[in-house]
Amino acid sequence: TTSSRPVLDVAVIGGGQAGLAAGYYLRRTDLTFEIFDAQKQPGGAWPHAWDSLRLFSPARYSSLPGWPMPPSPQPGNPPAAHVVNYLTAYEKRYELPITRPVRIKAVHRHGGLLRLDSATRSWWARHVISATGTWWRPYLPYYPGQRDYKGRQLHTVQYRAPDEFRGQHVVIVGGGNSAAQILADLAPHATTTWTTQRPPRFLPDDVDGRALFELATRRYLAQQNGHSDPDGIAGLGDIVMVPSVRQARDNGALQVRPMFTRLTATGIAWDDGHAQDCDAIIWCTGFRPALSHLTPLGLRDNTGRIPTNGGTQAAAEPRLHLLGYGDWTGPGSATLIGAARTARDAVRTITQ
Ligand code: FAD
Repeated sequence: TTSSRPVLDVAVIGGGQAGLAAGYYLRRTDLTFEIFDAQKQPGGAWPHAWDSLRLFSPARYSSLPGWPMPPSPQPGNPPAAHVVNYLTAYEKRYELPITRPVRIKAVHRHGGLLRLDSATRSWWARHVISATGTWWRPYLPYYPGQRDYKGRQLHTVQYRAPDEFRGQHVVIVGGGNSAAQILADLAPHATTTWTTQRPPRFLPDDVDGRALFELATRRYLAQQNGHSDPDGIAGLGDIVMVPSVRQARDNGALQVRPMFTRLTATGIAWDDGHAQDCDAIIWCTGFRPALSHLTPLGLRDNTGRIPTNGGTQAAAEPRLHLLGYGDWTGPGSATLIGAARTARDAVRTITQ
């Protein structure tokens, strides 16, 4: 029974940037709410990024609602550690009610409410905002021979620094920003082979996260006005030429090979008989939304996503909002600057 327990108006699952943006707007309402975060420390995925990771935009263009990100003491775009400091200060500044470490294992329908279960206790809420990110569900494709390969295999989430690969030959798999940046990080210390399913698309040198945000904004406004996507599919997945990637290109390190077809005991091989030995394979093959806690609600389609009504609200469960998982939960919603807009819309829908 719920009679002895307080019921939250809103439970937010996840205390990364998306959860904090939701908190910012929730505290301006008279709704009761609580943010549950699985980690001991603030910062969402940012403390787990590789050491040299820098934002693809300046601090001013990487801000959550209300309080702009202070400029980073180092020249250039801020490093990940600066984002961690910002998010830590942000949740203190707005005194956001965050309980951590609490991992919500399951969300169930419970009469008119939603029940959130951790390993040890339950909470009840009228609305749930899920903001658990993607970092926690790295995606690894399968290739034949994967078990035969004797070298080291890791995913983006396990990569920290080039030191441990010094003097080795490393295969980098994937055509996105993580692959390009990790390749650039390794290139001065190791030899590399870069393989991608499609030829990577590089943005012009002067285009950074700001331009991507403008593109996301055009999409958002078009959506709000009921128009179709003005830019087609081009844009957000393309590689931003951050300084390290530009330098790798200028040094001739950005050589791309088509995807290999199998792994061997010592490396990778293509169908044309070509093979390449390597000490390590880094799979920069992306992420899936971390939605397993929502499994009991039975909302996922066969792509692993939960259909929304075009914004953040789950189409088949109006008490559930999805925040920050990617463009399917709002154009630009999986960026620092883009989190605000969708968080505001979600909270507005809840208050209505
Ligand atoms: P997260 O930061 O992952 O936070 C989710 C939180 O929820 C975590 O604390 C997690 O522990 C918690 N959680 C998960 N499951 C549960 C559960 N069941 N119960 C309770 N808590 C749970 N964006 C930019 O704007 N600029 C950039 O330059 C940029 N660079 C990026 C570089 C990389 C390599 C990557 C991967 C992403 C980058 N992004 C960038 C995109 C985006 O800003 C980040 O991915 C960001 O971390 C997403 O924030 P989030 O709050 O959605 O998720």
